[in-house]
Amino acid sequence: MRIVLLGAPGSGKGTQGEKLAARLGIPKISTGDALRAAVTAGTELGLQAKASMNAGKLVANEIVIGIVEERLEQADAKPGFILDGFPRNTEQAQVLDAMLRRHQQPGIDKAVHLQVDDEEIIRRLHLRAIKEGRHDDKEDVIRHRIEVYNAETHPLLDYYKAQHKLVTVRGVGTLEEIFERILTVLA
Ligand code: AMP
Repeated sequence: MRIVLLGAPGSGKGTQGEKLAARLGIPKISTGDALRAAVTAGTELGLQAKASMNAGKLVANEIVIGIVEERLEQADAKPGFILDGFPRNTEQAQVLDAMLRRHQQPGIDKAVHLQVDDEEIIRRLHLRAIKEGRHDDKEDVIRHRIEVYNAETHPLLDYYKAQHKLVTVRGVGTLEEIFERILTVLA
């Protein structure tokens, strides 16, 4: 299966993506994780991405598209994958579709939208700031990331709806409850 996870920052894409990857035996590919690793390693790519990430802005499309294309070419991603945090705008979604066609792979099967209210998102991101100390989980950056999500990523719901691939899951409850809901909509 080829799955895209959609949802605001803090909606649980990373956690549920991990569980789903383990269950389905396919890799979870997170552009956020890849970018954070590049920043930590101090690579050229990391240096280019760092300022945007710390400001809660999107990193340039060509950088994240390059990361995804390279990762999807690896053997473990051929049978399927779960994308967490990509695509994040319409251009990325269009490029992803074109990329799969170019590599003669089947298209995305489902886009799973984890729906969580704004207040709950803000509460979770504050908690994560305390627990994990992520640079982009600070008050003003949190607000900006939500604005970016609403302006750039939210329109992707319509993109996948038009392709009859969108499924929506309420992202509030225990991890297990949410996971069961995801499995149900994917069945
Ligand atoms: P995440 O862990 O998915 O919330 O991503 C953390 C940060 O990495 C985002 O706020 C962006 O700065 C950057 N990022 C991750 N994925 C993308 C993407 N697909 N396009 C642009 N920037 C991204």
